[in-house]
Amino acid sequence: MKPKSHLFYQTRSRRPVLAEARGVYMWDVDGKRYLDGSSGAMVSNIGHSNPRVLEAMRRQMEKSTFGYRLHFETEPGERLAAKVAALSPEGMEKVFFVSGGSEAVESAIKLARQYAVTVGQGSRWKVISRNPSYHGSTLGALALTGYAPLADPFLPMMQAMPKIPAPRAYLDGLDMDDQATGAHYAAMLEARIIEEGPETVLAFIQEPVGGASTGALVPPAGYMQAVREICDRHGVLLIHDEVMSGGGRTGKFMAAEHWGVDPDIIAISKGFGAGYAPLGAMIAHDRLIDPVLDAGGFQHGHTYAGNPLACAAGLAVLEEIESGELMGNAARIGALLKARLANLMQRYGFIGDVRGEGLLLAFELVADRQTMQPLPKELNAYVELVELAYEQGLIIYSRRTRGGIDGDHFLVCPPMIVTEGQVDEIIDMLSAALDKFAVRAGF
Ligand code: PLP
Repeated sequence: MKPKSHLFYQTRSRRPVLAEARGVYMWDVDGKRYLDGSSGAMVSNIGHSNPRVLEAMRRQMEKSTFGYRLHFETEPGERLAAKVAALSPEGMEKVFFVSGGSEAVESAIKLARQYAVTVGQGSRWKVISRNPSYHGSTLGALALTGYAPLADPFLPMMQAMPKIPAPRAYLDGLDMDDQATGAHYAAMLEARIIEEGPETVLAFIQEPVGGASTGALVPPAGYMQAVREICDRHGVLLIHDEVMSGGGRTGKFMAAEHWGVDPDIIAISKGFGAGYAPLGAMIAHDRLIDPVLDAGGFQHGHTYAGNPLACAAGLAVLEEIESGELMGNAARIGALLKARLANLMQRYGFIGDVRGEGLLLAFELVADRQTMQPLPKELNAYVELVELAYEQGLIIYSRRTRGGIDGDHFLVCPPMIVTEGQVDEIIDMLSAALDKFAVRAGF
């Protein structure tokens, strides 16, 4: 019998105890090996136990692990902020550190709001977001999150924010070319801003490449540019939630670089600390930060934010990404993995779609690829397939939603150090899991 556990997470289900992790592999205490095909929750971007990061953290620990920000600047903090600013769009020179993705999003909303108040636009308070979307689990970030099962239990404790549909033409059955599709979905933003009253709208927030809520949704042609223009036209700030898509996983440091669109504020986390330390950041244009600082300061902060140990880890993560050319690898191997996943569609008629950018990839399961009808709920595919893959020694990530409608999607997002040989391993283990799933589902 397993000993009683005093840990408490989201559900009662328990997992094997982790013994150690190296590179793309993890081992439990019984010696079973797993290939980390989702980098945890799209976090461990440079793989586990990276010697450069461990050494940097060890060295920092011997100097100091904490210096409160009201008492000290820290050298790793200064150096990391400079590096992040250099990787950010022009004019975004200042970085506000936090300890995770929700905190980064909260910081973005609060900076946007304080900026509006400071420049005499206090009537602007609504933040439009998309359905589906995920922006975090704190109440402010949850108010933006377009995923009812997570958000609705907390109404009316929080004020839910207005939502527009995420661009998901493949599900909406639109018969338009990619450019027209982009214009169609962007027009929904403009219509909503006008409906709400532009003088009340503070910001629009979006994930440039969707994460777990949409399953790696990539925007259609022209959408990102059109959104930028619409925001400018109505004086609405554009916030990019790059918590999952940023940090290099898509092949660029910020996913929005693929479309050449600069937002006003960016939230990053996950792959930024890469599983070595809780770390995130809010990066904003100087034109927003300067008036707020001049008017007395940003009324926001978290105790552990920007601690020197987390910053030393983050700095070493960025150095590793640069020296190992890992963004190039994410683009190259990501294209290979995506093609291999797409090949599986020939063998498994119940794979409805394969999509994503770089190593932020997903596939969906459907009952019928023509009608894109979901698999019956009773099959519990999003749990069952993950369990079958886990038995094989492959970790993938899933949600019971397809772009906000009923169905199952699965994220396949190994660390950016993944090799071609390891892509073969992923496909072999996934195929074995899909074979078993097909038998169980009676296909
Ligand atoms: N934003 C996005 C796009 C995310 O994917 C997540 C986490 O999955 C968050 C915000 C929240 O990050 P955290 O769980 O670190 O608070």
